[in-house]
Amino acid sequence: MNTSPLVPTYWRDQGIEQVLIDEASIARRVRELGQELSLEFADGKDVVLVAVLTGAVVFAADLMRAIPTRVAISMVSVTSYGASTTSQGAVLSSALPKNLAGKHVVIVDEVLDSGGTLRLLRTELSLLGVASLRACVLLRKQREQAMSTKCEMVGFDIPDVFVVGYGLDFNDEFRNMPFVGVLGEDGIRERSPR
Ligand code: 5GP
Ligand code: MG
Repeated sequence: MNTSPLVPTYWRDQGIEQVLIDEASIARRVRELGQELSLEFADGKDVVLVAVLTGAVVFAADLMRAIPTRVAISMVSVTSYGASTTSQGAVLSSALPKNLAGKHVVIVDEVLDSGGTLRLLRTELSLLGVASLRACVLLRKQREQAMSTKCEMVGFDIPDVFVVGYGLDFNDEFRNMPFVGVLGEDGIRERSPR
C-alpha cells in the first residue's frame, strides 16, 4: 500500500511525481538530530556548523534552531561537476571558514551521494586544527559510494533517485518546496537544455 501523501497540485504540475519525505517527518527528524548534537556537546564546547552552500541552507537553518545550546554557523561553497542529476567530483569554490582551531566542527550537507563533497571537506577541515570533526547529512542515497563514505549522522536513507525540495534543486528550482520529492523524467527533460 502506498501511504505517501499526495503531491500538492502546484508541485505535481511542475513535474514532482512523489512525496518521498513529508514536512512533518522532516521536522521530527531534524529535532532528533538537534537533540543528539546538543547531548553530544553538552558541556559548553565550542560547536560550529559548517553548512555546504547552497543546498544545505534550509536544513542547516532548521537544524541550528533544533540545537538548544550554544552553536555557531559558517558557510562553505563546494561545486560538484558532472551531468545535471549526478555528481562526479567536488571542488572548493569559497574560502574555508576562519577560526576553526580548537572547535567542534559539524559538516552539514543536504544529501550524501557520491561522497565527494564530504571527503573533500573532511580533508580540508582536518588541516585546520579542529578539536573534532563530524558530518551530518539529511539524506543519504542507498548506493555503494554513499554508504561507504564516512558520515556520523544521517537523517534518512533514501533510494538512489533524483530528489528535490527542502533546499535541493534542479537548475535552482524547487529549493523552496517544503518536502523532499521525486522529480520525474518529464520534469527533468522539460528543464534540460536540448
Ligand atoms: P556528493 O556527490 O558530493 O555526495 O554530493 C554532491 C552534491 O550533489 C550534493 O550536495 C547535491 O548538491 C548534489 N546532489 C546529489 N544528489 C542529488 C539529488 O538527488 N538531488 C539534488 N537536487 N542534488 C543532488
Ligand atoms: Mg550540496
